[in-house]
Amino acid sequence: MSEESQYSEHPGGWIEWFCAHEDHQFLCEVDDEFIRDPFHQVGIKGKFNFFNEAISMILQPTSPEDQDLEDERFLEVYQEASDIYGLLHARFIFTSKGSAIMRERFLQGKFGHCPRIYCEKQNVIPIGLCEDLKTARIKVFCPRCEEVYMPKKKCADIDGAYFGKSFPQFLLMTYPDLHPKFQLLPDTQIQVDFQPTLFGFKIAGKQGSKIKKYDQQLQYNHIITQPIVQSVESNILQQEQKQYRIQKQELQDQQQQQQQSDQNKDQPHKKKNKKKHKQ
Ligand SMILES: [Zn+2]
Repeated sequence: MSEESQYSEHPGGWIEWFCAHEDHQFLCEVDDEFIRDPFHQVGIKGKFNFFNEAISMILQPTSPEDQDLEDERFLEVYQEASDIYGLLHARFIFTSKGSAIMRERFLQGKFGHCPRIYCEKQNVIPIGLCEDLKTARIKVFCPRCEEVYMPKKKCADIDGAYFGKSFPQFLLMTYPDLHPKFQLLPDTQIQVDFQPTLFGFKIAGKQGSKIKKYDQQLQYNHIITQPIVQSVESNILQQEQKQYRIQKQELQDQQQQQQQSDQNKDQPHKKKNKKKHKQ
């Protein structure tokens, strides 16, 4: 018995056999009940010719024999069973159980690491670039640089629709602690981006660099420095408010001075008038 099958809910069955395949190791085992539930089959059933046969193949408690794999009819149903399982899998990983399984796999680095040097071997999450079958193979998304890459692992030769476009964002929203910015120690110094230089001078935003200063700043903000940017923004706001209060105070002072000077001008006149009356 393999290490995986000790924890399998389908020991010896088609699902365990399918998920244990070298190319399918990104996939997790979907519950039988989830597969049987007509609600989860909505929108999938009509796309296949041998849907019912394929579902019963998926739910088989035994794995296929070698001679089955030489049978043309079996292979036709198998092809459909693979895609049906993949589309149900794309729905299952959005459930609490499915996402919890994927969380563990992500933390164990089972989907591989980001190839970008400055991401320091950040664990990646599988993503499909399209929800439709047979459009694009599976890719991986790095939550640190927010880029999509070809998976390095050989085992990831599956259709992108088996995961879908929204899965990484869903996983990170469901488990915010998975985001790299929450996994760093408070005093960690992070080198955010490679900065192209020429004899020591930065050339970002100039000829010879595709990185625009603004874009670079945006990317920087996006990855790590959102709280810093917020504090900078609030500082600017506070300064503006302070300046506004000073200006308002100055204006009030000026008005008071004006009023006083007007009163001073009026008083001598009154005195003069009084004097005139006395005369
Ligand atoms: Zn990365």
